[in-house]
Amino acid sequence: MPRPILARIHPDSVRHNLQLAKESAPNSRVWAVVKANAYGHGIERIYPALSKADGIALLDLDEAVRVRELGWTKPVLLLEGVFEPRDVEIADAHRLTVAVHCDEQLDLLTAAKPSRPIDIQLKMNSGMNRLGYRPGAYVQAWQRAREMAAIGEIGLMSHFANADDGAIDWQVDEFDAATKDLPGTRSLSNSAAVLWHPQAHRDWVRPGTILYGASPTGSVRHVTGFPLRAAMSLTSKIIGVQTLAPSETIGYGRTFQTEREMRIGVVACGYADGYPRHAPTGTPIAVDGIRTRIVGRVSMDMLTVDLTPCPAAGIGSRVELWGDQVKVDEVAEASGTIGYELMCALARRVPVEIDDASRLGESNDMRRTLVA
Ligand SMILES: *Cc1c(COP(=O)(O)O)cnc(C)c1O
Repeated sequence: MPRPILARIHPDSVRHNLQLAKESAPNSRVWAVVKANAYGHGIERIYPALSKADGIALLDLDEAVRVRELGWTKPVLLLEGVFEPRDVEIADAHRLTVAVHCDEQLDLLTAAKPSRPIDIQLKMNSGMNRLGYRPGAYVQAWQRAREMAAIGEIGLMSHFANADDGAIDWQVDEFDAATKDLPGTRSLSNSAAVLWHPQAHRDWVRPGTILYGASPTGSVRHVTGFPLRAAMSLTSKIIGVQTLAPSETIGYGRTFQTEREMRIGVVACGYADGYPRHAPTGTPIAVDGIRTRIVGRVSMDMLTVDLTPCPAAGIGSRVELWGDQVKVDEVAEASGTIGYELMCALARRVPVEIDDASRLGESNDMRRTLVA
């Protein structure tokens, strides 16, 4: 028998969360962001849930080609654009829209001879200071792009540094001032701006993390007004039980000491599965549907839980590491990170099942892809 750990992907939840994003930005088209293999969920697994999106945005050419091979005919956006001449050929062959954030990328497009003009999203660095043209250089870059035969439509795009904690108007103002005389669609908003900054919604929004049910701030309390559903649940089972006397310790480093007699459950899940090793004593977890806490240090293949709130639990009891009962954000926050990182870091050795595969496959082809 394989270890009892299992990640279950819920495409219906992605569909629900996408709908929520659309309702939050009702006048905008939606790029569904599926970079990093759909934030660890698997592009093929959630693809059927994206049918109402207007475009799909990602980073890797390989992922873009996979999306086309699944049959997606609407736009596909490469969020970091192209890196070498070969990329332009692939973008041309698969009708990809490419972000352009620097002159070197315009040079690549100048040198290329695509079969038809390639649509671009011209990226402005409005204050994030990662990728993009400075506001003062933006119009000139736009003019250069506009004169190039290889370029079709030019969308105007920027990205927020702190849409999750309030102030974004300084970036919106930079963007608006530098683009006021330019035609073209505008795209600014990540998940946080979709939820909280309607003034930034514009023509296209780009939600990522909320599609998967995680909070843009990394904290569940910030999304209590939005009934997001977890797109991934990570479950396992209790594989051992120890009854400890007062003053005994648990696991490596002996970081947790009992104050009284205590039943401890051993769960088949550790950091080699993607559970954060930094999760401290007290991190929430659910056993047989009852919330409790982990105790002691997370080891490679196992972690230990306090069975005090669930005295009926024993070997074989079902454990939810994260999902709809214990949000991935709760585990992340306790561990000093954000849900994004935990979802993306699910380890390859964890078996993955699709929740409603039977309802998804319209064709056998698709079903084959989904189970591959
Ligand atoms: C990742 C990314 C997004 C989505 O961000 P979320 O916070 O996950 O919604 C949007 N735009 C760009 C350019 C990105 O890189």
